[in-house]
Amino acid sequence: MFKKVLIANRGEIAVRVIRSCKEMGIKTVAVYSELDSNALHVRLADEAYALGGKTAAESYLNTEAILNVIKKSKAEAVHPGYGFFSENTDFARAITDLGVVFIGPPPEAIEVMGDKISSRIAAEKAGVAGVPGRSEPVYDPSEIEAFGKEFGYPVAIKAAYGGGGRGMKVVNSKKEVKEAMESAKREALGAFGRDEIYLEKYLDWPRHIEMQIFADTLGNAVWLGERDCSVQRRHQKLIEESPAPNFPDDIRKKMGEAAVAVAKACGYVNAGTVEFLYQDGEFFFLEMNTRLQVEHPVTEAVVGMDLVKLQLRIANGEPIGFDQDDIERRGHAFECRINAEDATGGKFLPAPGPITKLVPPGGYGVRLDAGYESNDNVSQFYDNLIAKLITWGSDREEARLRMLRALDEIKVEGTPTVINAQKMVLREPEFINATHSTRWLESKVDFSKMEPNSPTLSEGNDGATQTTVLSEVNGKRFEVKLFLPEGLNLNSTSGSAKAKAKTRAQQSSIKTVASGHIAVPMQGTVVKLHVNVGDTVKSGDMIITLEAMKMENAISSDTDGVVKEIKVKAGDALSPGDIVAIIE
Ligand code: ADP
Repeated sequence: MFKKVLIANRGEIAVRVIRSCKEMGIKTVAVYSELDSNALHVRLADEAYALGGKTAAESYLNTEAILNVIKKSKAEAVHPGYGFFSENTDFARAITDLGVVFIGPPPEAIEVMGDKISSRIAAEKAGVAGVPGRSEPVYDPSEIEAFGKEFGYPVAIKAAYGGGGRGMKVVNSKKEVKEAMESAKREALGAFGRDEIYLEKYLDWPRHIEMQIFADTLGNAVWLGERDCSVQRRHQKLIEESPAPNFPDDIRKKMGEAAVAVAKACGYVNAGTVEFLYQDGEFFFLEMNTRLQVEHPVTEAVVGMDLVKLQLRIANGEPIGFDQDDIERRGHAFECRINAEDATGGKFLPAPGPITKLVPPGGYGVRLDAGYESNDNVSQFYDNLIAKLITWGSDREEARLRMLRALDEIKVEGTPTVINAQKMVLREPEFINATHSTRWLESKVDFSKMEPNSPTLSEGNDGATQTTVLSEVNGKRFEVKLFLPEGLNLNSTSGSAKAKAKTRAQQSSIKTVASGHIAVPMQGTVVKLHVNVGDTVKSGDMIITLEAMKMENAISSDTDGVVKEIKVKAGDALSPGDIVAIIE
């Protein structure tokens, strides 16, 4: 086995990999950006090396810097986690050229599965049908109109190189075709550098069900079980579970065999996931993810295996070590992605910032994979996953109630999170009965009923700091919330109270700015200005695009008028409440 492994990643997944390595007696090497010099993954690793830079491109995607650390540290293998270099064949080849093992599939398999058109073709060759659609790029709006006529609307225009829920546009009628096509191409080119698009029928009520597979270098391949990831916003997953509810055993087996066939057809090795859409008893190939996925812990919980250890053994040339029939799945598991996002009104706005307090939940069947601890900062430059909360139960209902209990118990303060939205979802009848779909959260769930996000962001008492004190009345313990005037502090909560006061100050500055003073609600970087001084704008017109945590957010005018002043330029890093333009 390897003596030393470098983890080319950050956050919870770097921590996750470090933990398995430690249990196997493998030394771990962390890498870090300027902002992460004291991050949790750095604190836990045996050795850590600076990459420099703040953005992903300057740090975790800086091939030369990482290659230098590999040489300096003498690591024998690299675990790429997910995101960053995990599906990058240039990086995989560069480290292989150094004689270092890439803990993942061979570059050729990544390439076949790397774009959605070629992966559709590969799946079809293995006898697995894709979502009804075309397996070639489209260049002319008339092709989309013809497709709409043949298959009916809605039609999904998808970027061949898209990912992370980006690069897809849904067209509901012929008259939307031209604009949707242009916008899909523009978005794909901006985000992925390639603008090839293709077409699929947009299924109206599908579930996203994916199959975990493993293959070794000796030709063995198995499927471990499926995950249902249908609770999504912006086509991105929020809650996952295994097994998929209301999912017949014979279909599970067929899907597992289809996934293995797809893996074998592309010479796959190591952990992979074949994603499907499932509707009306039929499943359709969506894409293959050639890496360990965020939601792998729900599979670990039901099969009772450490998938990172299995990855390391396979990368070391060892066999899988068990047969398909040896795999037993027990009970049910859920995962909630605890993102730094403000879910108020179902908007799910990214909310980077300091975590003043993070208290993990505990108890039987509860696991927290966090990338942060109290007093760590969630930067706007990386993704917004603070932690993953996983619960296991002997059946779905026990796992669900355990998740609700754990979500009540976990404390994350300083930044809003999606926790209250997840509690709501877990209590919705459609979710309990598993009649939901990938479109359910955005189309059916009424977020106006959601508990407010965080007491630090509550309305009223502007300028006051909130704190909690304990009191006893007739021997019974009560928690009392107090609003202290600014500047006054109760020593017991000084650190967090100060940070809360800051959050409050930022929050109130946003609320109190005059109409026409266009402020940003979150930390982020200006990617585009949409207006010039002197332009006439209407309320709702886009003023700037702000990127925060890999998501683009439109900042719009709140009034009709003329742009008098623009205070920012593309590339500027902004804090919540910063004014970008004045409109009179
Ligand atoms: P990405 O690579 O961006 O994650 P995917 O192709 O995996 O894109 O799709 C992500 C999600 O988008 C799916 O889970 C599903 O919710 C939705 N989606 C994708 N294709 C379709 C389709 N043809 N019909 C309905 N929903 C779709």
